[in-house]
Amino acid sequence: MKLFVMDKRKEILDYFNILKKRDSFGTSYLFIGEDYTLANDIFKLINCQNNLCFCDECWDCKAIEKLNHPDLFFVEPEGLTTKIDKIREGIRFLTLKSFRAKNKILVIKDAQSLSLGASNAFLKTLEEPVNNSFIAIYTTKLEGLLPTIISRCRKIFLPFNDIIEEKPFLNDEVYTFLKGGQVDFKDRKKFGLFLNNFSDILLKYVVSKVKNQNNHLIETKGYEIILKRFTIEKIQDMIDCVLKIYSTHNSVNIKLALNLIKMKFV
Ligand SMILES: [Zn+2]
Repeated sequence: MKLFVMDKRKEILDYFNILKKRDSFGTSYLFIGEDYTLANDIFKLINCQNNLCFCDECWDCKAIEKLNHPDLFFVEPEGLTTKIDKIREGIRFLTLKSFRAKNKILVIKDAQSLSLGASNAFLKTLEEPVNNSFIAIYTTKLEGLLPTIISRCRKIFLPFNDIIEEKPFLNDEVYTFLKGGQVDFKDRKKFGLFLNNFSDILLKYVVSKVKNQNNHLIETKGYEIILKRFTIEKIQDMIDCVLKIYSTHNSVNIKLALNLIKMKFV
């Protein structure tokens, strides 16, 4: 099982290597997980000029390792929330000329703590990204993240350091749906909650499998029995599908959307 994590790590780095070869970064990424060292390696890869991947020896690699590269900027929460002023500083950083690296990298840490004002202020930057900028948004959970932010980013699953202790709220509708039963939503807010909870449960299942740990809560409810029929890659694909629908849940045809998710399970 540990191999999977390493494979995944290599897979992610390979993916960014291809982008580097094509010179086609410049999209916004949502990193879901906890292995920030991997995210750091990706930043080195983006700005190392010595090597196709990264060399770990040059000035840029070393400065990124120490997190004091002038073209790397972190936005972090103060206490529980990230306020709009902090996000504005980050946006301003992106509009400035870079000091030495080709790409400016803006990192939003703990994105789930962005205030509503901060999230909205940031949306425009995501819609119209500045040239040669790379936006990395980190989160450990999708709950609380604006759906419009999720939909505007490519999603990368980072390995988790430890299984998240926080238990998912078990939604009866998710369980019924997973068992192949019928669910129906007249209320869009409830539909949104269902999708949010659905992706959360799938994500936690993936994490527990990768870490080779048992998530007892998921086991007792019988999720394990249903989910173990699928490969981890398949479940990640499902998470992606559920998130896509979540980002449009205010306007989408609910019945069609549910059918679309169902098709992913066959
Ligand atoms: Zn280097």
